[in-house]
Amino acid sequence: MLAVEGLNAWYGQAQALFDVHLAVGEGELVVIQGLNGAGKSTLLQSLIGIGPRAQGRIAWQGQPIEGWPAHRRARAGLGFVAEDRRLFTALSVKENLWIAANGLSHPGAHASQQETPAQRCDRILSLFPQLKAMLQRPAAQMSGGEQQMLALARTLMTGPRLLLLDEPCEGIAPVLVAAMRDALLQLGREGVAMLVAEQNNILSHHAQRVLVLSSGRVDTAGIGPA
Ligand code: ATP
Repeated sequence: MLAVEGLNAWYGQAQALFDVHLAVGEGELVVIQGLNGAGKSTLLQSLIGIGPRAQGRIAWQGQPIEGWPAHRRARAGLGFVAEDRRLFTALSVKENLWIAANGLSHPGAHASQQETPAQRCDRILSLFPQLKAMLQRPAAQMSGGEQQMLALARTLMTGPRLLLLDEPCEGIAPVLVAAMRDALLQLGREGVAMLVAEQNNILSHHAQRVLVLSSGRVDTAGIGPA
């Protein structure tokens, strides 16, 4: 469903990605590993259309999307959760979710087209009981792990078919790491494809493929089943 060929990206004169090729099939979980500075965030940001200057081919469901702005990619079914979460911290859990529901509900959505925003919210909250218990709480008063769950839940409100996740289990309490992992694996069973950058091997054991990014290049020796 996603095919990337010959992707290069630059911050000014400094090249951050070199001839990256990768593919994510329907319902697949693909993990990108790599050290700090390897280019994982740059890669995900380039795919969703918020990265630095980039060149290369990005096809989504067979359509070239590299010329599309980020909002069009999101409407086509790409959902992104940044490492820094980007929540509305003054707003409550419920408000963060509803803003996403109102902002984006698109024809490429994975979830049932008949689902109302309230039904979608309930379905997503059933994946995250921790959030359900704090619907009125401002995001600013949540732990890092809870905020990470909210960021994921908010993106799910848009009904993505492919999730691009930047270090979803990084720096959060072990109990929430397990909850986050289980929620992501459940989403995978429901048919949501995922491309996940991680350094901590939480999801790589469950991945169809693990790619290793090293100084902006996919290390071909590292490609293969987890
Ligand atoms: P981390 O795990 O630390 O987030 P990463 O694998 O996601 O690392 P990137 O953040 O994509 O790596 O960084 C790739 C390269 O691009 C690094 O050399 C980094 O210094 C550089 N870089 C990242 N963001 C910028 C920026 N805004 N301006 C200039 N260079 C940048």
